Amino acid sequence: MRAVTFQAPGVVTLEDRPQPEPESPTDAVVRIELSGVCGSDLHIYHGRVQIEPGFTIGHEYVGRVVEAGDQVKHVAVGDRVLGCFQTADGDCFFCRRGLFHRCVNSRTFGHGATLGSLQGTQAEMALIPNADLVLRRVPEGMSPEVALFAGDVMGTGFHAIQESGMRPGDLVAVLGLGPVGLCAVQVARATGAAHVLAIDTVPERLAVAESFGAQPLHATEQDVKAAVKDLSEGRGVDVSIDAVGDPRVLESAIRITRACGSIQCVGVYAERAEVHMGLLWLKALTLRGGHANVLGHVDRVLGMLSAGVLDPSPLVTHHMTLEDAPEAYAVYDRREALKIVLAP
Ligand SMILES: [Zn+2]
Repeated sequence: MRAVTFQAPGVVTLEDRPQPEPESPTDAVVRIELSGVCGSDLHIYHGRVQIEPGFTIGHEYVGRVVEAGDQVKHVAVGDRVLGCFQTADGDCFFCRRGLFHRCVNSRTFGHGATLGSLQGTQAEMALIPNADLVLRRVPEGMSPEVALFAGDVMGTGFHAIQESGMRPGDLVAVLGLGPVGLCAVQVARATGAAHVLAIDTVPERLAVAESFGAQPLHATEQDVKAAVKDLSEGRGVDVSIDAVGDPRVLESAIRITRACGSIQCVGVYAERAEVHMGLLWLKALTLRGGHANVLGHVDRVLGMLSAGVLDPSPLVTHHMTLEDAPEAYAVYDRREALKIVLAP
């Protein structure tokens, strides 16, 4: 079968790889119909997240079950399914508390040996460990493009808002309008935010946020602090979402969030970063971070997608094929696309 593999920073290729086989009775094999290109794939593409050359990348996927082990009960051969970006054992200290994102035996698709040596999904076929936990049937009438979002991007936007402690009536700022930030805008609107400020520097992304019901703010050409003050009688926003993962963005979140408000860092941090801790302390802010518990949220997110309360379909800007992967990564790297989906 063919698969998109990482070769070196800036180089991905389509290669022939061995067909996956179930390795345990709880595994399934899925024939991939669509796989998304994600911001975290770009970290691999740039070499910031290091994986072995020749490793298959990708972790957003929809497809059909073609093989299922004896102990797989909730999906069957022939089902069209979507899957989460990571697996979990469902049995460890953290899983028993519903904290699947911190599972001690978690494996993430397409992230090399450091995250569990699980081959990625930008391929014709993929092996899915613990299929009952990781896969869901695509609900009747839902397009595969929309279903794709439940297992990563919308699940992460949902996590950002839920973990932030946002309550109905709150004023929310979303900093960074990549697909996750834009999904967070939708979730905030759908779960009762009175007002959402959407902050970025890319005009197209600001326009999408506006179409989702947010007030767009250009991070450098407009006075963000003044806009926040105007809307909050000078106090600041109740909740900020850092959907970038950059200390400069976190610093602005600390500055525009009101006293006793909260900041949720859903963008990825992997290094030491400097922010104004004194300001955070004096303002009594709550700061949280971490991967999204997508396995824990997937059923609720699917419910909201099914009902049309959330609709990420405007985020799909490019349909391409696996052969186009080198071009797809280059296009995404130039920020010319929001969500690229690859079909075999
Ligand atoms: Zn676990």
